[in-house]
Amino acid sequence: MTDIVVLGSTNMDLVAYVEKAPQRGETVTGREFRTVPGGKGANQAIAAAHAGGTVSMIGAIGNDSFGARLRSALEHSGVNTDHLRTVEFPSGTAHIVVDDEGGNAIVVVPGANGTVDHLAPGDEGLIASADALLLQLEVPLPAVVAGARAARGHGVRTILTPAPARPLPPELLAATDLLVPNEHEAAALTGRTDPREAAIALLDAVPEVVITLGAAGSLYATRGAELLTVPAPHVTAVDSTGAGDTFVGALAVALGENRPVREALTWAAAAAALSVQRPGASASMPYRSEIDKQYA
Ligand code: ADP
Repeated sequence: MTDIVVLGSTNMDLVAYVEKAPQRGETVTGREFRTVPGGKGANQAIAAAHAGGTVSMIGAIGNDSFGARLRSALEHSGVNTDHLRTVEFPSGTAHIVVDDEGGNAIVVVPGANGTVDHLAPGDEGLIASADALLLQLEVPLPAVVAGARAARGHGVRTILTPAPARPLPPELLAATDLLVPNEHEAAALTGRTDPREAAIALLDAVPEVVITLGAAGSLYATRGAELLTVPAPHVTAVDSTGAGDTFVGALAVALGENRPVREALTWAAAAAALSVQRPGASASMPYRSEIDKQYA
């Protein structure tokens, strides 16, 4: 089994469904409200666990009811939460308004996630025992850099999702093995809108790049080899929230099993295609048997 550690965010998504989002000073009546466990870190942890990995999460939740629910959602998915700290801050929240056209507006309040700015005692030992460390940018950069360096020091594969998009410090890129931006993040990082050009530019900084291309699949680049494009299955998408996190979680599991890159990318695309056909992020993350069936 692939041993995976995720260092990242845990949020409660507070989602209001409205016909039309309110303008400043306006009040509108919503149709429905849902609370859904989220945060890119937790989403990737749940995706990897469902895909068959042995997963531990490093992060922080608040000493509040959201925190308790976030911990139990992770545990319910089989994620070890011994390194998920409970702190005296509110749990991270994402306040999401989804309108009838499927557009959304989001406010993220990091709360407890903001305290994840260093590795706590024991975190490095946990990282050292893993096959891969999954990182995103929803906790403070010093912790992301420290995690990447710890992984590098112990020969653990570092997989970084550079989201939300922001400039990356050279010391983080220097400790990253595989960078997995979507095409918008790749463009923001390189100033190149053509994903092929962006992928080649990113190879100056990291040895391997996967750019996810939504319904068009993904693009893989490594130094000294031809670019590889891997299509996504044709499906009817109802909610693409968390598609990228599902993709990365499954990809990390497959690579940890030493499956060839094309096969690993195709299997990850099968997982992500299943998730976009179901509403919600973490709730929609498919299990290994379902991924195998879609892949076959
Ligand atoms: P993000 O969710 O981070 O914005 P993408 O939109 O690129 O990232 O989606 C990530 C992956 O999810 C894609 O590489 C693809 O495999 C899968 N995916 C996303 N949208 C669809 C879709 N409409 N149909 C099939 N697969 C999809």
